Amino acid sequence: MKFYVGNAGAVPYWYSPDEHRLVSHPIVFNKRGNGRQALSRKKKGTIQALWLNLTKACNLRCAYCFTSNLTALPKMMSKQTAESCVEFLIREALSDENGLRERTLIFFGGEPLLRWEIILHTVGYVNSRTSHLPVNFKYMLATNGTLLNEEHAKFLSRHDISVQISLDGPEEIHNRVRKTASGKGSYKAAIKGVELMQKWLPEKNFSVRPTVTEHGPSLLELSRFFTRLGVKRPPTDTSRIW
Ligand code: SF4
Repeated sequence: MKFYVGNAGAVPYWYSPDEHRLVSHPIVFNKRGNGRQALSRKKKGTIQALWLNLTKACNLRCAYCFTSNLTALPKMMSKQTAESCVEFLIREALSDENGLRERTLIFFGGEPLLRWEIILHTVGYVNSRTSHLPVNFKYMLATNGTLLNEEHAKFLSRHDISVQISLDGPEEIHNRVRKTASGKGSYKAAIKGVELMQKWLPEKNFSVRPTVTEHGPSLLELSRFFTRLGVKRPPTDTSRIW
């Protein structure tokens, strides 16, 4: 199960992405990922992953972006909230009746690279808290890829962090919907991020995530495009909007 965590001052809250509002109790996706139910204390130990909404700010202005609906969300997650999330997952892992000790943090936004310092802090915090515990953390960064640089790449590589870049297909299609704040297409910058990740990360740690709109492309075109790009891991998670 996954749920989203935001930050309201000192108190973490949970956010339901399909209701676009804050809720006073955790909301989780069901097994198929398309439903929701309130988290029951009886189900403690079943939560494997948290999506951390580090910020709702972004350097892009994609036409279909859902963050424009998140008006109630504050812009930045605090270090304290990130630490609370880590502590929550540690408790979940240690009390897991099935003995599953691995948990996952997904850095998400907005554009999470705008909060790079929180990512550094969170990974450091996890390492210091789990060095003597039988708990293992994995990470995933969901990014538009346009801000990635060598410093990021070295850190992501060193800490075995998986990266997923949003890329909607060929340049013309991508640029129709994924624009910068000044209205320019973001394709070239995203491709630089893709190339950087292909250089630094093992295949298992890099994937792309296309969102298909009425502008296309077809799934066949998409498949050919990603093959040409040398993306070895086919997208497993494609959104469709129209
Ligand atoms: S990159 Fe993601 S968060 Fe940023 S505008 Fe596009 S869809 Fe929204």
